[in-house]
Amino acid sequence: MKYAFAPPIVTLPVISRDPFPVRRVFCVGRNYPDHAREMGADPEREPPFFFMKPVDAILPDNSVLPYPPGTKDLQPEVELVVAIGLGGKQIPVENANDHIFGYAVGLDMTLRDVQQNAREKGLPWDMAKGFDHSAPCSTITPASDTGVITQGKIELKINGEVRQNADVSDMIWKIPETISYLSSLVEIRPGDLIFTGTPAGPTPVIKGDVLEATVAGMEPLIITIG
Ligand code: MN
Repeated sequence: MKYAFAPPIVTLPVISRDPFPVRRVFCVGRNYPDHAREMGADPEREPPFFFMKPVDAILPDNSVLPYPPGTKDLQPEVELVVAIGLGGKQIPVENANDHIFGYAVGLDMTLRDVQQNAREKGLPWDMAKGFDHSAPCSTITPASDTGVITQGKIELKINGEVRQNADVSDMIWKIPETISYLSSLVEIRPGDLIFTGTPAGPTPVIKGDVLEATVAGMEPLIITIG
């Protein structure tokens, strides 16, 4: 047996800059009130929680996502993604924006049937959220170009039809609060991505569907289900 190890290097393109090497992928659950309600949670009372996807689940713009095995309910969740450029722990909310390198649009691809089954049995979500190619992400726009993002339309179209449409200002936990809270749990590092949660309305997709995810002021993310 001959093994050939090579360090996996996953990068995302950045507008007018060198590529961004991805270190970890954090995701926030239930961060928009309407989506929390449709998932059976109380948006007023629950603190944010995090789950993770493998770094090599990242799928760049204009890719084909092979329909994953073990599901009949693949759902894309459009999310604003924060790219961390400066690490830290116990970061105060008022300093949190200084740690942002840039922003992107992501799809938190979810096997909803696998997730529901795991929820009912009290089992981990990993296989529902962290399967191969489960983290499509757009080209990153540097924060030096966008400024601090606190509002803007977030939308997902499937085959040209709007399926999710909200404003990122609807987030329950705002981006600086999310960064601060995450950094109280783990030391965040340059290269970390944070998928900041999805608004209401994720629906299933099938082979051949074209997904177009957008957030105002950013590069779109276009993914085809293969
Ligand atoms: Mn999500």
